[in-house]
Amino acid sequence: MSIIIGFPRIGEHRELKKALESFWSGKSSQNDLQNVAKELRKKHWSYQKNLELVSVNDFSLYDNVLDLAYMLGAIPKRFQQYDGLEQYFGMARGLKDSLACEMTKWFNTNYHYVVPELSRTDSYKINPTKIENEFKEAKALGYQPKINLIGLFTFVALSKIIDDTDFEIIFEKIKNAYFELLDTIKTFDSNLTIQFEEPIFTKGEDKRFYDKIKDIYNQIAAKGFKTIVITYFEHSTEATEILCETNIEGIGLDFIYGEKNLSSLPKIAQSGKTLYAGIIDGRNIWVANLENKLKTLEKFSQYLPKNKIILNTSCSLLHTPFGKDSEIKMDKEILSWLSFAREKITELEILESVFRNGISPSIKEKWEKNISINQNRKVSTKINDKATQERLKQPIKTQRESAFKDRIKLQHKALDYPILPTTTIGSFPQTPELRALRQSFKKGEIDSSVYEKGIEEYIKDCVAFQEEIGLDVLVHGEPERNDMVEYFGEQLKGFVFSQNGWVQSYGSRCVKPPIIFGDVSRPAPMTLKWITYAQSLSSKILKGMLTGPVTILNWSFVRDDLQRSDVCKQIALAIADEINDLQNAGIKIIQVDEAAFKEGYPLRKENIKTYEEWALYCFKASVSVAKATTQIHTHMCYSEFNDIIKTIEDLDADVISIETARSGNELLKIFADVGYSHEVGPGVYDIHSPRIPTKEEIIKQIRLLLEVLPKEQLWINPDCGLKTRKWEEVKPSLKNLVEATKEIRNN
Ligand code: GLN
Ligand code: ZN
Repeated sequence: MSIIIGFPRIGEHRELKKALESFWSGKSSQNDLQNVAKELRKKHWSYQKNLELVSVNDFSLYDNVLDLAYMLGAIPKRFQQYDGLEQYFGMARGLKDSLACEMTKWFNTNYHYVVPELSRTDSYKINPTKIENEFKEAKALGYQPKINLIGLFTFVALSKIIDDTDFEIIFEKIKNAYFELLDTIKTFDSNLTIQFEEPIFTKGEDKRFYDKIKDIYNQIAAKGFKTIVITYFEHSTEATEILCETNIEGIGLDFIYGEKNLSSLPKIAQSGKTLYAGIIDGRNIWVANLENKLKTLEKFSQYLPKNKIILNTSCSLLHTPFGKDSEIKMDKEILSWLSFAREKITELEILESVFRNGISPSIKEKWEKNISINQNRKVSTKINDKATQERLKQPIKTQRESAFKDRIKLQHKALDYPILPTTTIGSFPQTPELRALRQSFKKGEIDSSVYEKGIEEYIKDCVAFQEEIGLDVLVHGEPERNDMVEYFGEQLKGFVFSQNGWVQSYGSRCVKPPIIFGDVSRPAPMTLKWITYAQSLSSKILKGMLTGPVTILNWSFVRDDLQRSDVCKQIALAIADEINDLQNAGIKIIQVDEAAFKEGYPLRKENIKTYEEWALYCFKASVSVAKATTQIHTHMCYSEFNDIIKTIEDLDADVISIETARSGNELLKIFADVGYSHEVGPGVYDIHSPRIPTKEEIIKQIRLLLEVLPKEQLWINPDCGLKTRKWEEVKPSLKNLVEATKEIRNN
């Protein structure tokens, strides 16, 4: 018996993305959209036909958390006047005067969910149509469905209570709606399996609700469902212990990212419950080592009878690409090591067969192929790079030459920038022409001289504009980059890119993460040419622009045969080489972006220290080659630093730019509170909105910042890169930024 926790919904060729975008732009009807959705569900169930049950309600037109909010009638006031899809998409994307609900990352993945807004005054009238339709569709096609439902605790914990209502009161309200939804589902089929997903339990105890778990799940089980509660992304031993005392049928645990779950096995066995063993990695893309998996399962069966062990993926396959069929260009050997969502289902089937029946003649060939792929991968020369491995054994410099207080004096002398220096975060607008230029070059339609000419033109205009408005520290604008990680991945050894390896990030948005398959090194300089070209155009200082090692790691699929920290070290050394080349070529300021530094934080408190240690080490290993006079900047795309401020200090970057534009000076205060001594550029306007900030607004914002930190310590910049904005927005905004700064300096 085996199942998957869920299947990706975007479609093999991103059919859902296309259907959504066409619907949103008014080019197709609601019916067209629903038809595409229906076809996708049908197709995705067909891949699960050999499994015990198919996943129903893992599909979504936008997001599952939003779906549940919608079904529970958790509709924020500003959307209550709308209905149907207009209301649903409105909550996700905003409507005329109604701001969209916030979006945030789903645990430690790169998937974003829409944050539900809860309030005492809402009525929570349920709307079960979605589940009903999908359930009936699956039934009509002859499948045995299991309904996927985000658990009550996870739902409430991830929601935002928007008034001052007490948690208890809100919980009670949502519980009533949730139970009503369950009662309705019960009417579809009296003998239904429901998979309640409670990843929130992996974060450890939560005082607000831990004492409710037993009672709530007993009540749910009493409704007569076959009730399975699953957790993923980490271990959930505390909650598992409680769940063992309930009347639910099964408990699902992640044995890939939650090794400690092993310690729960005796209790589960004692309780007589079925174990849903998350044993095939739902989040990464490597072919499973089925021999090892089998050994693990045999270990489990020392505790539980085999018929009490169900095999499944560690989490929904939402986080992996669809399948390998479209990968025509990738190196065949590397491709053979990969397993995307469809291939993972096959792995489950093979493992299932061998676990229950041994290596039967019909499975032998597949089993042996899996063994040989794994053996081949281990010894492949493509993975192992002696030089990189040797280099890692040598001492690595992780301290700058001199202390910050001495460096900064030297830097001020060498760089001679004014008080409240103005700069930007790196990228400038990516115009359709620019995208077309890069595309044609990639496809081989134009040769490198035409391409390079185009990029040079852009840089020339970009630098000229910055000089004209009087910014102090210039950038080249990043016209050669499609994406801040992909650009580096493409030039580093050890990385490979899929053609069709899309993973949903939010709504219709997908990303295609780079795949780190082998030892990483830098065969040649990656940014030197463009940065030095830009510098040659101006007598002002040009800031070099790199992506940091931790961010490159966190936004990639990372090999599973080496510690993440070691992979990160290899990337760090490659970045260090680049920094050295840049400074030797006369670049005096270099920014190392760590946009994803924070999102790599572990879910469990007890693991944070280890992450911080190696992430910090890697950042420092990449920047410590900088001479005392080379100024190192870093940029982080968020503003909440309270819990990580110590680590931010330890990064020892000369300047950090952050995103505080939307919160006045509130979130900057932590920097003052801890006596942060390095320089800071808190974003003075929000680049995520097309709005052009006025000079007065920016003046006001700078004044607010000056209430918190002295002028000697502050830089003035937008809060993130400008690549998603239009020139018509960027030009006046930056002009106002410079004017505002000048006015403050003069007063
Ligand atoms: N330098 C990058 C840019 O300006 C930084 C992007 C980011 O932090 N997300 O686009
Ligand atoms: Zn940013």
